[in-house]
Amino acid sequence: MDFSRYLVSDLLAHPGAHRDERLEVPISLSSESVKVEDVALGDVRIEAAIGAVVVRGEVEVAARIVCARCLRDADGVVSTALVETYGDEEDEDSRPISADGRIDLAMAVHEELAMAMPHAPLCKEGCLGLCTECGTDLNVSPCDGHAESSDSPFAALEGLFPPEQ
Ligand SMILES: [Zn+2]
Ligand SMILES: [Zn+2]
Repeated sequence: MDFSRYLVSDLLAHPGAHRDERLEVPISLSSESVKVEDVALGDVRIEAAIGAVVVRGEVEVAARIVCARCLRDADGVVSTALVETYGDEEDEDSRPISADGRIDLAMAVHEELAMAMPHAPLCKEGCLGLCTECGTDLNVSPCDGHAESSDSPFAALEGLFPPEQ
């Protein structure tokens, strides 16, 4: 089932009237670090204007992401707000209402979610990432640290400046 097509001819007869609809659109998207292969869900309000309808709402879809900090696979979500106008085909700023008085949100949902794909997704807020020196996943175990190792550029200075008394 595809819940993205709605009859709006009745709304068009009553500017100012609105109707709330449930949105379900299968989405397939992928980028370097985000993969979406699921059904986007949302709630939208379709409001009649003069010769057009305006659709407002929120839509979200489950995703698999590769965390930009720790490089692990994780579950994520891609979400976006929708504000779309459907009207006369000659109006370049709006999407078309079909001859039988319907609108189809599938294309708009797909385009808006594609633009909302995060460029640097995180597995969780505040992911600690990997130690840049030893590669330890700092979410799993703390790294002992390398500041005191002899590789540190500050190690040589420690002998020069005795601790203040
Ligand atoms: Zn992470
Ligand atoms: Zn380390």
